[in-house]
Amino acid sequence: MSDFAVEGVWAAPGRVNVIGEHTDYNNGFVLPTAIPQTVRAAVGRRTDGLLRLASTHAGAEPVEFAVADLAPGVLSGWTAYPAGVVWALRAAGHDIGGADIRIDSDVPVGAGLSSSAALSCAVALALDDLYELGFDRVELARVAQRVENDFVGIPVGLLDQMASLGCRAGHAYFLDCRDLTGTHVPFDCAGSGLRLLVIDTRAAHALVDGGYATRRASCEEAARLLGVASLREITDPDAALAALPAGPLRMRVRHVLTENERVLRVVDALRVGDVRAIGPELTASHASMRDDYTISCPELDTAVDTALATGALGARLVGGGFGGSAIALVEADDSAPVAEAVEKAFAVRGFTAPRFFEAIPSAGARRLS
Ligand code: ADP
Ligand code: MG
Repeated sequence: MSDFAVEGVWAAPGRVNVIGEHTDYNNGFVLPTAIPQTVRAAVGRRTDGLLRLASTHAGAEPVEFAVADLAPGVLSGWTAYPAGVVWALRAAGHDIGGADIRIDSDVPVGAGLSSSAALSCAVALALDDLYELGFDRVELARVAQRVENDFVGIPVGLLDQMASLGCRAGHAYFLDCRDLTGTHVPFDCAGSGLRLLVIDTRAAHALVDGGYATRRASCEEAARLLGVASLREITDPDAALAALPAGPLRMRVRHVLTENERVLRVVDALRVGDVRAIGPELTASHASMRDDYTISCPELDTAVDTALATGALGARLVGGGFGGSAIALVEADDSAPVAEAVEKAFAVRGFTAPRFFEAIPSAGARRLS
C-alpha cells in the first residue's frame, strides 16, 4: 500500500434525504442534503493495466486486479464499488489503463447515509479528473448508479449519486428526477435554532420480502395499468387512485403521489426560511411510508414515535425502509433529550442500541488536493 501512486485526493459526502422517499425511481421529486462526512479517494493512474485497491475500513483487504478482467458478477464485497467505476468507464469506451485507489472514510457504513454512493462518486470524480474525461455531474452520477445497478447488482435510483455530487453547503438540493434538473434551497437548521438528528436504528430487515425491488415493481405495474410512462405523468391524482384496484397497488401509488406534494410544500417553506414548518411534512411522510408503502419496522416506528413524543417537530424513516435510519427535526436544546429517550425506548424493547449523528447540510463532491 505504501507504494501506491497518488496524484490527488477527491472527497464525496454521504447524504440524508430531507424528504421525497421512493419518488426518485418514479421520476418524482427528492430533497437530499449532503452531510459533512466524506469518503476520500487518493488516486493515481497506472499504465500497466492493474487496478490496486485499499481501504482503511475494517476488514477491507487490499487487492489487485487486471482491469481487462473486470466484469459484472466477478467481484463481491467492497471492491465492487471502486472496481465497478473502472469497469463502467471502460464499458463506455474510456481507456482507463489502471489505477491505484486508496480509500479513507468517516461516512458510517450501512446506516442509510449512502456510504456506497459516496465511495463510487469519489472514485468516479477522481478518474474523470485524472483521465480528463470531461463528464458533468449528472453523467458522473449515472456512472456511479451504473456501478450499483449493473456491477454490484442493486436497483437503486439516482438520488444518492446526485446528492453526493451535486449538493451545496447550507442547502438542500431540490431535484426533479424526471429530467435531473435541480435547484439549491437554503436549509439552515442551526440558524433557526434547530438540528437534524439522524437515528441509525442498526436494524436490517431487508430480507423480509425483498422490499425495495417489489415496491419498484408495484409502481411500474401501476403506471402500466394507468397507461402512463411513470407515476410522475399522473395529472389527476384522485382519478388515478380511483382507477386502481383497492389494496396494495393503490396504497403504493398514494404514497408516491402524496410524497411528491409534500416535497413541493417543504421546498416552499424552506424558500421563505421557515424550517420549522417542514416538521409536520416529515411526520406525514413517515405515516405514508408506514401505512401506504408499508416499509417501516418496529425499530423505525419506535425511533419516530419517541422523537415526536419528546418534542421533535417532525420525524420520519429515511431510505429504503425495513431498518436503517430515521431523521428527526428537533430544537437544538432537545437534541440530547430526544437521543436519550430513543436510546431508552430501544433498550426497553430489547433492540440493538441505536447510533446518532447530526446532519449538517454540507458541500458535494470535490477535489481536496
Ligand atoms: P450505505 O450506502 O447506506 O452505507 P450500503 O450497504 O449501500 O449502505 O453500502 C455499504 C457498503 O459500501 C459496504 O458494505 C462496503 O462494501 C462499501 N463501503 C462503504 N464505505 C466503504 C469504505 N470506507 N471502504 C470500503 N468499502 C466501503
Ligand atoms: Mg448504499
